Amino acid sequence: MEDCIFCKIAAKEIPSKALYEDGQVYAFYDLDPQAPTHFLVIPKQHIASALEVTAENSAVVGHCYEVIAALAKQLGFDSYRVVTNCGESAGQSVFHLHFHVLAGRDMTWPPG
Ligand code: 5GP
Ligand code: ZN
Repeated sequence: MEDCIFCKIAAKEIPSKALYEDGQVYAFYDLDPQAPTHFLVIPKQHIASALEVTAENSAVVGHCYEVIAALAKQLGFDSYRVVTNCGESAGQSVFHLHFHVLAGRDMTWPPG
């Protein structure tokens, strides 16, 4: 999608620090890390937010979680947090579905 920063990152039009890629998803480190390890997993197809997940496109969401589990094992984490902010008041600033993966420190609950 034009003017979507994560579509441009997935297409390598904007540089990023890659962790993993396949035909469906791209994983890369967050520019502004909120934990010692903080990366993002995104579907390559443009889905604006979690609110736009449907029966037609939901398979990629499961695949994102498979990739997250594989990367967590590869990086040596058995404890980590996956976050998806959905909507502006929940903290979403980039309107292309993404899963934050945060690890390497203790997490608090509830999140702010
Ligand atoms: P959100 O606020 O939508 O939940 O998360 C967006 C995330 O994308 C933020 O954590 C922000 O630091 C990250 N981000 C925004 N622009 C870029 C960028 O150009 N490159 C990378 N690697 N991360 C970005
Ligand atoms: Zn996009």
